[in-house]
Amino acid sequence: MRTQVAIIGAGPAGLLLGQLLHKHGIDNVILERQTGEYVLGRVRAGVIEKVTMDLLDEAGVGARMHRDGLVHDGVQICVDGVRHRVSFKEMTGRAVMVYGQTEITKDLMDGRAAIGAKTVYAAEGVALHDIFTDQPRVTYRAAGAEHELACDFIAGCDGFHGISRKSVPADAITHHERVYPFGWLGILSDTPPVSDELIYVRHPRGFALCSMRSPTRSRYYIQCSLAEDIESWPDDRFWGELKPRLDDEARERLVTGPSIEKSIAPLRSFVAEPMRFGRLFLAGDAAHIVPPTGAKGLNLAASDVRYLSLALIEHYAEKSDAGLAAYSARALARVWKAERFSWWMTTLMHRISDNSFDHKIQLAELDYLFRSQAAATVFAENYVGLPY
Ligand SMILES: Cc1cc2nc3c(=O)[nH]c(=O)nc-3n(C[C@H](O)[C@H](O)[C@H](O)COP(=O)(O)OP(=O)(O)OC[C@H]3O[C@@H](n4cnc5c(N)ncnc54)[C@H](O)[C@@H]3O)c2cc1C
Repeated sequence: MRTQVAIIGAGPAGLLLGQLLHKHGIDNVILERQTGEYVLGRVRAGVIEKVTMDLLDEAGVGARMHRDGLVHDGVQICVDGVRHRVSFKEMTGRAVMVYGQTEITKDLMDGRAAIGAKTVYAAEGVALHDIFTDQPRVTYRAAGAEHELACDFIAGCDGFHGISRKSVPADAITHHERVYPFGWLGILSDTPPVSDELIYVRHPRGFALCSMRSPTRSRYYIQCSLAEDIESWPDDRFWGELKPRLDDEARERLVTGPSIEKSIAPLRSFVAEPMRFGRLFLAGDAAHIVPPTGAKGLNLAASDVRYLSLALIEHYAEKSDAGLAAYSARALARVWKAERFSWWMTTLMHRISDNSFDHKIQLAELDYLFRSQAAATVFAENYVGLPY
């Protein structure tokens, strides 16, 4: 089999790239390790930047997002039981959209099915070959048979645990990493959200986040130790730990109910540099991870895809490789700013130590954020997403 761009991974990065390339007549095949049902079952991100919305529109898959997504003009931050609001609209003139990654993935899968582009699900043993030559190849097993996909370029969109980054020679890549000593225990429940806006909670018992997916579906998180076992967190224990972290009004309004999903996510900051190796280009979580506090993971995957799709379109349409040569540096410039914001928000909002100095610095920084228009503008500008 032959294609122009072999895309590894059918997460948001791979599916969006495939859609944008197809629009410009660039043939592509996606190889995905899991089944389509499994990919759709993963509950992950929920906050979409304006630039990501625009890209989904450009890919022709934004209609349902505009119909069902919730536009958020601001966010609430609760510090030791007192709530404050930062208005994105006032500070930046922009807003974000709350629309689940599961829904985006479904829209992208439906879009791909509509154009008849090829996706191989349950592709096993995906292996990359000859990435530093002009004729890279990908081999894999599917339906019990061995296959080879010849291509011009490989897009490694296979997430943090994928094979693409691991296929690069160790001396060609540098890893930068910070692993946080805590995680997020999250539940999804078919209960009305406690507020119309997200509430980020800083509390001596630990961080909490009240988020949502729709007017009838809530997503809540609490900071937890990495040693926690999900089995030892029945729903009642979760609600019992969330409540004392909230302000009085939120506690009164909180509607509890059975969880429909429950998971623990470790928090990590990670960047691999560069993001190009010969004919292999990394995009999304394959190249970088952010702690979810700033809601940047999915949005960064989208911005990588924008830069990469423009570079590939330029290669085929204008016979210019300037965009491909600039891809890694362009993508990393935006990645590092989002890494900085996600790290900052994580260290600001979590119980990071028992040291009273750390605690006081967090409170001073939050007080500054609520009193200074300049500080609130910096926060809002980063949260709604920096321009491309
Ligand atoms: C538990 C969890 C919660 C999260 N919560 C948030 C949040 O609240 N907000 C936020 O902004 N971000 C969040 N994120 C991050 C966000 O979901 C990711 O940044 C986003 O999914 C990145 O998209 P991607 O396409 O780059 O990678 P992925 O979504 O990871 O997709 C990669 C795809 O590649 C496939 N793959 C892997 N290995 C192979 C292989 N060898 N061969 C073929 N295919 C392969 C995988 O099955 C997967 O389908 C969360 C992530 C996790 C794990």
